[in-house]
Formats: sequence, C-alpha cells, structure tokens
Amino acid sequence: MKNNRKTEKNRGLLVVLSGPSGVGKNSMIRALIDDDPSLFHSISVTTREPRKGEIDGVAYHFVSKDKFRALIGAGDMLEYDLYCDEYYGTLQSLITEKTDKGIDVLLDLTIKGALELKKNDPNAVLIFLMPPSLDALRERLLDRGTESRERIEQRLKTAEREMGCIDSFDYLVINDAVEDAVEDIKAIMRAEKRLVTRSFVDESEADRV
Ligand code: 5GP
Repeated sequence: MKNNRKTEKNRGLLVVLSGPSGVGKNSMIRALIDDDPSLFHSISVTTREPRKGEIDGVAYHFVSKDKFRALIGAGDMLEYDLYCDEYYGTLQSLITEKTDKGIDVLLDLTIKGALELKKNDPNAVLIFLMPPSLDALRERLLDRGTESRERIEQRLKTAEREMGCIDSFDYLVINDAVEDAVEDIKAIMRAEKRLVTRSFVDESEADRV
C-alpha cells in the first residue's frame, strides 16, 4: 500500500479548558504552566473593559466592538462568542504559529466557543472543568470580587445552562483541589499524545489506494 500519510506527531496540542465562569480555569492554566513552562496560554481578544491590573496584550487584547466585528468579517477568528454582552475570541494566526512549532496551547473558552473550535479543528481536546457545586461557584465569584452582584447572578444562570453541554466534551475534570485537577489534565495530555489516530492523518482521500 502506498503511504500517503502525513505525520502529525510534531504538531502541538490544542487543549481547551471550558466551564462556568469562576470555576478556576485561569488558576488551573497558571498551575499547568508553572509545572511545564513550554506550554502557551492563548491570549484572547475581547471587547470587555480591562479589570484592575489587567494589561493589554497580556491578559487579553482589548479592542472595540467595531474592531472585533472587523476581525470576524476578515475571517481571522478561529472561534468567538458573545458572553454577557461582550465579545471574546481566539485569533487563528496566533494559535497555528504555536502548534506548527510543536508547542501545546492551552485555551480557556466559553462552552459555545469550545464547541465552535472543535468544529473547526476536530483534533482539539475539550476538557469541561466542573465546580464541586453551584454554591462553591457562587462563593468563588464573591471571593474574587471582580463582578457586581447582578453580574454574578447573570454568570451563575449562564453556568447552570452551560452544565447541560457536558456531553459534547471529551473529558470532565472536577476542580475541587487544584493540584488533583492539574494532575488529571496532565494525564489527559499525555494520553492524547499517544493516540494512534493523532500520530497519522490521511493526507487526502483521493490519494488513497
Ligand atoms: P472573563 O471576563 O471572566 O475574563 O471571561 C469570561 C468568559 O470568557 C470566561 O468563561 C472565559 O473562559 C471566556 N473566554 C476568554 N477568552 C475567550 C475566547 O477567546 N473565546 C471564548 N469563546 N471565550 C473566551
């Protein structure tokens, strides 16, 4: 049989952490990068206002709604979502630049964004990060102190709805203790790299013998 297969072995993984706001996606990503500094955390584009201490180009690329819509129109977004009246999205170019070099990329996305990304890149690994309970989530959002009461209630309502989408994800990790969740994610990434289906992909149906 003619070998028309192209190795994907050197392509970095796209690992998406998704789950309700306040579940601890950012702490998880920080802990994963502390453990393995070769990982890259994708910097998203957003139209929301920077929070105190957030630096443009570090936390997010902060842009106007007009600019964001222009990026969508130009086909530059790998995925995007309108969340609590603000746009959030991932620039395609930023991601492929890393994965082409074999760098594993971590993304924290809304559920809708995660599902859209998977549609555009079926090799992406979707992990649903779940809080131990909705009460624990409310407490985390209150402790964080970055949102008004009204915004917290809005985020909790969204969270309840989002939990109904778990079935579309590849993995479920409960974030009770950060260190345990980090170990789970590292194990998932190790296993994903050993998938036979990821090692080789058919270059083209037409070339098959
Ligand atoms: P926050 O305003 O708390 O920084 O983020 C709100 C939500 O937007 C979080 O659930 C976060 O995971 C999500 N988010 C951040 N960046 C992106 C992105 O590029 N695309 C999508 N779809 N969601 C994002």
